Amino acid sequence: MLTGPHPDPHIAPLPRAAGEESSVVTEEGRTTAPTNRRPTGQRPYVLGQLARDLGAVVGGEHVSADPQALTEQSTDWSWMSQYLQYRDLPFPTADLVVRPDSTAEVEAIVRIASEYRVPVVPRGGGSGTQGGTFALYGGIALDMTRMNRIIEIDEQSLVVTVQAGIDGSVLEQELNKSGLTMPHYPGSHFFGATIGGSLAARGSGVVSTKYGKAEDLALQIEAVVPPGRTVRTLPIPNHAAGPDLLQTFIGSEGTLGVITEAAMRLEPLPEARRFISLGFPTIEAGIDAGRQIMVNRVVPAAMRLYDEADSAKLTSMLDLDTSGVLMVIVLDGAEASMDLEQQAIMALCAGNDATDLGSGPAESWWEGKYEPFKEGNAPAPPQVFGTTDTCARFADLAGLYAAKKRTVEEDFAEYGARYTAHFSHWYPWGAMIYDRFYVDEAPADPDEALALHDRLWDAAVATSLANGGIINDHHGVGLKLGRFMRPQYGEAFTLMQAIKDAWDPDGIMNPGKLGFGAPRSGW
Ligand SMILES: Cc1cc2nc3c(=O)[nH]c(=O)nc-3n(C[C@H](O)[C@H](O)[C@H](O)COP(=O)(O)OP(=O)(O)OC[C@H]3O[C@@H](n4cnc5c(N)ncnc54)[C@H](O)[C@@H]3O)c2cc1C
Repeated sequence: MLTGPHPDPHIAPLPRAAGEESSVVTEEGRTTAPTNRRPTGQRPYVLGQLARDLGAVVGGEHVSADPQALTEQSTDWSWMSQYLQYRDLPFPTADLVVRPDSTAEVEAIVRIASEYRVPVVPRGGGSGTQGGTFALYGGIALDMTRMNRIIEIDEQSLVVTVQAGIDGSVLEQELNKSGLTMPHYPGSHFFGATIGGSLAARGSGVVSTKYGKAEDLALQIEAVVPPGRTVRTLPIPNHAAGPDLLQTFIGSEGTLGVITEAAMRLEPLPEARRFISLGFPTIEAGIDAGRQIMVNRVVPAAMRLYDEADSAKLTSMLDLDTSGVLMVIVLDGAEASMDLEQQAIMALCAGNDATDLGSGPAESWWEGKYEPFKEGNAPAPPQVFGTTDTCARFADLAGLYAAKKRTVEEDFAEYGARYTAHFSHWYPWGAMIYDRFYVDEAPADPDEALALHDRLWDAAVATSLANGGIINDHHGVGLKLGRFMRPQYGEAFTLMQAIKDAWDPDGIMNPGKLGFGAPRSGW
């Protein structure tokens, strides 16, 4: 146990009066009182002691019980988070925010948390959309953003090693100075998304079709696991030395440990870009054109196919002079290869009645790729909305799209539910559908609004799973999708639960996420 003099007078006051408890948002999004908290009379004393122990590790100024800081650390960009704030409803916050600066400090924090059996909820930029940072059982909100240093740029191997809390856009700016890029540009690039958060949630960026998702860019990670041990995966990801620990940490969303460092693959900045825009008579024709491009291994940096509803939105947002099903393609690389790639794409699409719309719409799309997320363009309460993105093989894509559109628009017709979709990340075997439901006006009663949100998600995910899809491609699971993990994985979920139980026997790491349930402790 780390002990020492009270490090900082700023730690007190404690966040709540004795006897007062924070509420909890359940998987279904309803608020309830927590059930497993320590008896209230002891709580302030334990919390004070915990704060002093943590302050001795990170410095008292980096431990806070300020209610506003606690709320900020718990929020993310999920609809639930936005809605609770919009309606000024109670929020499931941690008891303390702790801001470490080094792996050694994270190790000590997790050791202390294990001794107290107190939950630890890591947080990067808080740009997640799945309620992953909600502190359902209180405990420590572990703010990783002080761990924001570039440790090494290996220009020979094209690898950068960073602390996990670095903001992806800040890293990118630094790399660009040396003519390099880490080709992971999520829509949240300027919302503070960190490299640790991108790995923890298996994120994807705009140019993933060519360069891969976050998990494909990672070579090695360092992580801290309970009860305070630092581990490293192998220096390179491709080996024949047993199962893949790297990919087990990736996507674990803080439920197995804290990612503290990562070595990520780099690319030289592309010499040239080429823009292609195509119209299609139907979404099916566009899907088949995308398939032809991918299976023939002409791999664009980005390829987006918008259905009519989504293309109408994009067209008005970017002031494009197009209508109907739209595909935008961005090629990048050596100038010398651009003509050949463009010719190959045009030839492959010809059989699908493609109309050449020139470079303009695709170029405007590239320039305006972060526009859809700006205030005023992005959906917000009182709307009820959800990005129910899914991913499937080519053979299932058109059927899956049609089934989800039907589910949202027909089964929720009484609410005027709308559905939009674009196919945004492509693989050699299929593609991701970035689709959304919208109900323009949430029911006035918060319980009803939360229940409608849950029902829309239930229906959307059930339709994905029944039509060859999965619960999602790259937004992670968090609290929001935890209830679908068991149905999706079936018996295999028991293996995941076994890994969780072995790595985190007290269940203190981000409890309640990924479908793993409550901590085992009586915190
Ligand atoms: C406008 C907008 C656009 C978006 N576009 C995209 C997109 O294009 N692609 C995409 O993939 N996502 C997108 N997202 C979702 C989100 O940005 C990503 O999931 C991002 O990777 C989260 O990073 P973060 O640092 O903000 O993580 P946070 O939101 O802080 O955390 C996300 C989860 O990861 C865990 N976590 C965070 N850091 C660590 C760590 N160091 N160790 C262990 N666990 C950790 C948290 O506990 C939480 O469960 C978007 C979000 C918004 C708001």
